[in-house]
Amino acid sequence: MTIFCIGRNYIDHAKELNNPVPDKPVIFCKPATALLKENKAFYLPEFSKDIHHEVEIVLKISKPGKQIPLSKAGEYYSHIGLGIDFTARDLQQECKNKGLPWEISKAFDNSAVLGDLIEIKEFELDKINFSLLKNKKVVQSGNTGEMIFSFDQIISYLSIYFRLNSGDLIYTGTPAGVGSVHSGDLLEGFIGERRMFWTEIR
Ligand code: ZN
Repeated sequence: MTIFCIGRNYIDHAKELNNPVPDKPVIFCKPATALLKENKAFYLPEFSKDIHHEVEIVLKISKPGKQIPLSKAGEYYSHIGLGIDFTARDLQQECKNKGLPWEISKAFDNSAVLGDLIEIKEFELDKINFSLLKNKKVVQSGNTGEMIFSFDQIISYLSIYFRLNSGDLIYTGTPAGVGSVHSGDLLEGFIGERRMFWTEIR
């Protein structure tokens, strides 16, 4: 199982980190050991002093494919969920400053929170509202209509380079409002009114 992630897929978020708006999807991966499920607590790692939350819609790939045309991409996922792409922002900045890959800031253990998965037929895919609450206050909210690259465009583009397999996950990017988490914080992710996950920071 591979976890693919899309960076800078919401204009407001690209701008808040002073990144250019991309003309192609920005791709990175996390290993399976990054997955944190079942509303387990997230333990702050010692190697960072600035862990950020990034709430993201997650696609689950439902059948294998390679070089998937845009017109067929919708056949390759049947469920979506919500998760967090935890990011060690201080390490990421260090790596970016040196022009190095920022894998260690993104792909570390338990950095990919994932909640319930729901069948996509329940949704209009380009109109999904989602949000992240920190200690009961909304800190991030987005709508999939604001994505620079749609779910189908992401899948088609990824499959140029990577064979997709059933069970692979795709984190589709975060809207604006990313910020630090601290010990004792409670994060709760919602799609519409439905709570999809929660995690306590320790
Ligand atoms: Zn992200």
